Amino acid sequence: MTKRVECQSIDDYAEALGPHFTHETYRADDIAARAMGKGCRTCGVEVTISIEAFKETGDLPRFRELTKGLAPEKKK
Ligand SMILES: [Zn+2]
Repeated sequence: MTKRVECQSIDDYAEALGPHFTHETYRADDIAARAMGKGCRTCGVEVTISIEAFKETGDLPRFRELTKGLAPEKKK
């Protein structure tokens, strides 16, 4: 069963996603709830954050800063 983690800030979101960056992930956006997120197939976890909270707590620049170095080099 998939475990759902709802984050209230970008810092929480980045921290919750951190361990999964090198795993097999998929987009887990919840448009109806105005939330975006990522799921991890490896761990059975979905991490989400409301779009409002994402914007209010730093938006993409903050997210990039926090997750710098976590993402593996793009391979495709
Ligand atoms: Zn994982």
